[in-house]
Amino acid sequence: MSSARPVITRIAPSPTGYMHIGTARTALFNWLFARGRGGKFLLRIEDTDRERSTPEATDAILRGMKWLGLDWDGEAVSQFDQKDRHAEVAHEMLARGAAYKCFATQDEIEAFRQAATEQKTSTLYRSPWRDADPATHPDAPYVIRMKAPQTGETVIEDAVQGTVTFRNDLLDDMIVLRSDGTPTYMLAVVVDDHDMGITHVIRGDDHLQNAARQTMVYTAMGWEIPVWAHIPLIFGPDGKKLSKRHGATGVEEYQVMGYPAAGMRNYLTRLGWSHGDDEFFTTEQAKEWFNLEGIGRAPARLDFKKLENLCGQHIAASDDAALLHELEAYLNAAGLPPLNGTQRDSLSRAMYCLKDRAKKFPDLIEKAEFALNSRPVVPDEAAAKSLDSVSRGILKSLTPRLQNVSWTKETLEPILTEVAAANGIGFGKLAAPLRAALAGRTATPSVYDMMLVLGQDETIARLSDAT
Ligand code: GLU
Repeated sequence: MSSARPVITRIAPSPTGYMHIGTARTALFNWLFARGRGGKFLLRIEDTDRERSTPEATDAILRGMKWLGLDWDGEAVSQFDQKDRHAEVAHEMLARGAAYKCFATQDEIEAFRQAATEQKTSTLYRSPWRDADPATHPDAPYVIRMKAPQTGETVIEDAVQGTVTFRNDLLDDMIVLRSDGTPTYMLAVVVDDHDMGITHVIRGDDHLQNAARQTMVYTAMGWEIPVWAHIPLIFGPDGKKLSKRHGATGVEEYQVMGYPAAGMRNYLTRLGWSHGDDEFFTTEQAKEWFNLEGIGRAPARLDFKKLENLCGQHIAASDDAALLHELEAYLNAAGLPPLNGTQRDSLSRAMYCLKDRAKKFPDLIEKAEFALNSRPVVPDEAAAKSLDSVSRGILKSLTPRLQNVSWTKETLEPILTEVAAANGIGFGKLAAPLRAALAGRTATPSVYDMMLVLGQDETIARLSDAT
């Protein structure tokens, strides 16, 4: 183990479906760790399993990474493309005496397992070819097996789990190259990590046992073992392993639901990692603070309330132009109609008063209705209730007073207060029909903000339409 080399981390997803939220968090941890140390972060698509790997699943991973802003160095590497190199290493292990050709047939192995099960003895397969004289080798198909140590222990020094010990007598001689010449996952991962110069392997703790077997390959090849950091998996709010019944497990589902990427990054960073009591932080801070010491050993539980809360804070803290840009990407991802030029202009003027208390983009869009719609404004059912004849009369008396005044909150405030007082109503009673006339909705920014964003002519026109 050494960390003297410049840091190089990776995410190595298998493209067999959508991008899981756990994969996204693992990618994020690796990205933060590398980016905070001037290191490199690489992407390797583990597409060795040809039957289960699909180009669509690879695309979903790339889209998920891009949405979360997790940029990788160089091209994404295809594991399958390295298959000749994997085979070469398997043969090198043979040449070093660290592996052997095993001619046992599937039927023989199956028969052994069945007998062992019946006799209740160990089903761990011990190949008779391990120490066979090559002169006795038949001219038949073979697999290459690792000549794994059968006594003693393999010790993993894990940055999260601490020292973890595996008994060697419980591990079999794993296959590294199949009889068709294709590598197994266990070999491919080690060869690729070595060739890519990976210094730190940060991944789910479902791979902890693999680390023991992989360590044997590193040792057999005389390669430097990376720093291991096996992180606890994400659990649902009820403490059970995360599954669809808890809610969305796919990264893209979160994008389609309208969570902002910065909030998602913040939340996923906190999911299993901590920096004192800090909950809300920027990605820049996360890069600076992220370390392996802050990763907890207990499984992290998904907490949708906390996610929404952080997302709301990130929306409120976002730069208006950046937020508008992200909102347009959200519309596209959610399959909603794009903004036209007028809507974009008015949204960019309105953004300052939409950001508060919006947890997701749909909340923001709901509040933005007044800026997105055009005349005639059709009030929804709840808003229509505030436009009775009395209210319409009051709005009618207000309209002429809005002509020929300077269009600032300072000027408008006394006018609205006076009109409310003259009609014997509180300001709230005046605001409701105003919201209905200007936005057609009940949940809107303040009436002043709407009037200022819409401008004098449009405000007067909407009030006239409603009265
Ligand atoms: N391809 C493996 C997975 O998707 C990850 C392997 C690794 O990180 O070493 O679970």
